[in-house]
Amino acid sequence: MSLAEVGDTMSSMSYRIVSKAQRARHGLLRLPHSDVKTPVFMPVGTQGTMKGVLPEQLIEMDCRILLCNTYHLGHRPGHELVKKAGGVHKMMNWPRSILTDSGGFQMVSLSKLMTLDEQGVNFESPHTGEMTLLTPEKSIEIQEDLGADIVMQLDHVVHVLTTGPIVEEAMERSVRWLDRCFETHERDDQALFPIIQGGLNLEIREKCVEEMSKRAKVGIAIGGLSGGESKDQFWRVVAKCCEMLDRTRPDLPRYVMGVGFAVDLVICSLLGADMFDCVYPTRTARFGTALVRDGGLLPLTQNQFKKDFRPIDDECECYTCKNHTRAYIHSIAGKEAVASSLVSIHNLQFQLQLMNRVRDAIDADRVEQFLNEFLEEQFPKRDVPQWVRDASEYMGYKLYRSEDPLAN
Ligand SMILES: [Zn+2]
Repeated sequence: MSLAEVGDTMSSMSYRIVSKAQRARHGLLRLPHSDVKTPVFMPVGTQGTMKGVLPEQLIEMDCRILLCNTYHLGHRPGHELVKKAGGVHKMMNWPRSILTDSGGFQMVSLSKLMTLDEQGVNFESPHTGEMTLLTPEKSIEIQEDLGADIVMQLDHVVHVLTTGPIVEEAMERSVRWLDRCFETHERDDQALFPIIQGGLNLEIREKCVEEMSKRAKVGIAIGGLSGGESKDQFWRVVAKCCEMLDRTRPDLPRYVMGVGFAVDLVICSLLGADMFDCVYPTRTARFGTALVRDGGLLPLTQNQFKKDFRPIDDECECYTCKNHTRAYIHSIAGKEAVASSLVSIHNLQFQLQLMNRVRDAIDADRVEQFLNEFLEEQFPKRDVPQWVRDASEYMGYKLYRSEDPLAN
């Protein structure tokens, strides 16, 4: 395989494949603030902070890149102020890499009123009630002020289950908006990622991959998923986009937006995707649920943990597991903010550790074995979902026990 580096005009940014196993890639993404090993899970810090987790705790778990929401930072404290503070890295005291989204998604999801035309997205601010226009140019301007390592284009997102001509129109508009983003974007210490749209229509996705591949420089995203489509539809779109990118631009890291369930992270990584983000691990932590290898979830608010003096996971190396018991967390869960912090720390460590295991399996070329181990941990009753079996079979991996759920 080619070890060629990309990003010729941007010496501080490059991506290279370290090792490959079938479709899966272990890569190294070089960004101005840190090197990022892929496949990577990026925790989401909404308001310029990781809810309940300090930067040094993220560094302790070897987190290399965070996602911050442009929409939220643009409102509070405001992008001009972030710029004055020296950028979002400095403001939140995070020395490593950051990715900011375009702000478009939050706008659509949080706004009651939204209209969209060629110029941009018009929306009613939920903060002030005023009508505001977000254009591709404005989104880039804000993201340049914030100063993240990776910035995202403003795209025209339609609901994933939408059908009809609007899907293709939105995709074509997203291509035009990307061109406007590139025209405005001046900072050469930021990578601007295009976003592949096209809903669940594989032909439209293909056209979009063609166009975005011509324009992408450092990396590319697969957007518009994780919005209510079936898992079967979801993995097929990811598979198709990765296959097409293998032909057009194998040199780019591929970021599948909004993915954070352990099983989704594993299947998408094996399909050839490289970057993921989701609020899930920290959101679920706030409800007192820990992510664990054995069975997937540990709802620590339940009474069965009242006298359970084991750590959340006795193999986990995180701060929480080294210092606290399930019983302690049970006693404060839902009552004390520190409970959310402790479970968030563990859950983020769990996600990052899972990605370490994926990369190790790719390096050792033992992906099939890893996949089987992982599915046995996550589904101890062997109720592996059909879409996971289908995706595994599609990739040519044999699941040792999947056809025999009752055998022991
Ligand atoms: Zn832990």
